Amino acid sequence: MSKDKPEIISDIYNYLKFYNEYKNYPVYSNEVEHIDASFDFQETSAGKPDSIIAGEKQVYEKPVYEMKKAIEDIVVEKPVSIYSAREDFNHCDSLDKFYEEIKDCRKCSHLAETRNNLVFGYGNPASEIVVVGEAPGAEEDKQGKPFVGRAGKLLTDILKAIEFDREDVFICNILKCRPPENRNPLPGEIMNCEPYLFKQLELIKPKMILALGTFAGQTLLKSKESLGKLRGSFHEYNGIKLLVTYHPAALLRNPNWKKPTWEDVKLFRKEFDSMKK
Ligand code: URA
Repeated sequence: MSKDKPEIISDIYNYLKFYNEYKNYPVYSNEVEHIDASFDFQETSAGKPDSIIAGEKQVYEKPVYEMKKAIEDIVVEKPVSIYSAREDFNHCDSLDKFYEEIKDCRKCSHLAETRNNLVFGYGNPASEIVVVGEAPGAEEDKQGKPFVGRAGKLLTDILKAIEFDREDVFICNILKCRPPENRNPLPGEIMNCEPYLFKQLELIKPKMILALGTFAGQTLLKSKESLGKLRGSFHEYNGIKLLVTYHPAALLRNPNWKKPTWEDVKLFRKEFDSMKK
């Protein structure tokens, strides 16, 4: 299987982030046996070093060499879009314009290739409440709308229970594209995608945010705390009140979490009402 350069860069980026978090940095060592050995070697402008040429023993050096090259490209030559801080969406002054801007995003080329739709978000663009989930699932990917599968139905019921209509709030996710097999978002994918969420929040200017699950809570709060620690009380995101609670999909797996979720969302409603007074 041959990979193009943005995909190689994205893979490397995720790889480095992962190892960095575990205080381990074996990129240049021989610990690369788990990397797909069918990874094609492409000659780069720097040429092919002798040590890379053929020889069974060298087979794993090809991806390492590609990694080194791509890292050099990232660090030295060509800063690519994974440097989210460099993105500037100032010219987008509405959600519609912003959607047009990002709808063909290919920053995570592996997700762009497998998605049916980029799931931008749905609801009232002037809502006082934004609900943030993790990433689209199969049904969301098919329909291009967030939370339309089983977890979505539960979310609709939760919102109804605290007297919010899902059409009146704005619902979106940390990742706009479905991770294959619904796996967890990778750190590099979150880094690529979070500027989109931040821009959405900047445009909507909600009064309150409900973050569903660990990824939403940790990403918005730039925290590594567990969901157990994050939930149950209010935080702040750029001056906006933010509450973290369990993700509806987690509630489908573990109904014991319904009670604390109910406590959280009641608190959310109470705070919303008190802000209105
Ligand atoms: N789970 C999420 O986090 N988001 C969706 O849109 C659907 C399921």
